[in-house]
Amino acid sequence: MGFVVSPNAKSWIRVDANSHFPIQNLPFGVADLGEDSQVLVTRIGDFAVDILGLIEGGVLAEYGFDEAEGFSEIGKMNFVELRRGLYDLLREGNPKLRDNSKLKKEVMLPAEELRMLLPMEVPSFVDFYSGIHHASNVGKMFRPDMPALLPNYRYLPVGYNGRASSVVPSEVPIIRPKGQTKAADADVPTFGPTQELDFELELGFFLIEGNEFGESIPVAQAENYIGGLVLVNDWSARDVQRWEYQPLGPFLAKSFATSVSPWLVTLDALEPFRIDGQKQDPEPLPHLRRPRLNHFDIVLEVSLQTEKMTAPQIISQTNSKELYWSFAQQLAHQTSNGTPTEPGDLYASGTISGPEEGMFGSMLELAWRGSKPIVMNETGEERRFIEDGDTVRLTGYCVGKGYRIGFGTLENQVMPSL
Ligand code: MN
Repeated sequence: MGFVVSPNAKSWIRVDANSHFPIQNLPFGVADLGEDSQVLVTRIGDFAVDILGLIEGGVLAEYGFDEAEGFSEIGKMNFVELRRGLYDLLREGNPKLRDNSKLKKEVMLPAEELRMLLPMEVPSFVDFYSGIHHASNVGKMFRPDMPALLPNYRYLPVGYNGRASSVVPSEVPIIRPKGQTKAADADVPTFGPTQELDFELELGFFLIEGNEFGESIPVAQAENYIGGLVLVNDWSARDVQRWEYQPLGPFLAKSFATSVSPWLVTLDALEPFRIDGQKQDPEPLPHLRRPRLNHFDIVLEVSLQTEKMTAPQIISQTNSKELYWSFAQQLAHQTSNGTPTEPGDLYASGTISGPEEGMFGSMLELAWRGSKPIVMNETGEERRFIEDGDTVRLTGYCVGKGYRIGFGTLENQVMPSL
């Protein structure tokens, strides 16, 4: 069983009503303190709390944490107990940490000043294509003579095995990749920096447990393997993609960079925001038939800031309910052939676009393949794709009564090709 904090609970730490990190969230992240020192932290309001410091300070012993463990070795049960212990230490009325000013000074770190790493090491990365509006928009643009959705789309969560080595945290600069592209009127391709660098607004889940070689994870149990969700930006080079993707799918157009937000938000924290999601028609085959309420209602936003701008401009607002396939269905599908998975595996959802303009999760769609450039209100600059110096910022949050559960931000600036 999981651990869900009551919507009415409060902490002795002051948390803004708009903060993504009230006591109901308690996500996990890894902070880099320099000199090879990395610490597992949780987040509340403006503070990151050093969990190993709490363990060494003895205040988590009654929850079974009396020895510092590596983060990726924490199993599901421990994970739940750890959040329960953190909640108890931070809840209003508990003086144990509140009145221990020495320990408090050691473990409460100002979150904004920390450099955050990936929440888990990533052995494998898979990217799905479960945003139905994105899939149909891309179909309309890339295959105008065919139905927008290919015949398999409503029978299985389409995806591909991506590249884990280029999964990077927030704030790491993204270097414009080079690749082969072929202009529509050219006979042969050329090699050089992409002219169509794009972002993809996605959510992703990290596994906290895997299955053995030859076994499959049943859809009804799939969520037990999921440690939590993050925001994912699946950076893409559209001109490279168009030339290389047939017949085997994405390769170098995607594998140069994928960025991930720092805080792993548990499904327990998202529990009050469960929804049924889209009606699936036709009904999926039995092995993918989902339990009820296995989607989540998460508001998602993309902002863009050019080097000339002083503040980011929101260019897209959408919601995770636009995913056709749920995370549980994606994991059940991935393992349905018996492929093994392991803790830290990252599964991204696919670009999440809403049904209308202004709700699209990529520049390809927002500027409709370059035909409707986005205007930056502050400077009058136009954007068809992402330019050098631009910063792309993703955020996401659930709206509760008087509180939010959020992911913080994922932002990366684009640098010129080397
Ligand atoms: Mn993608």
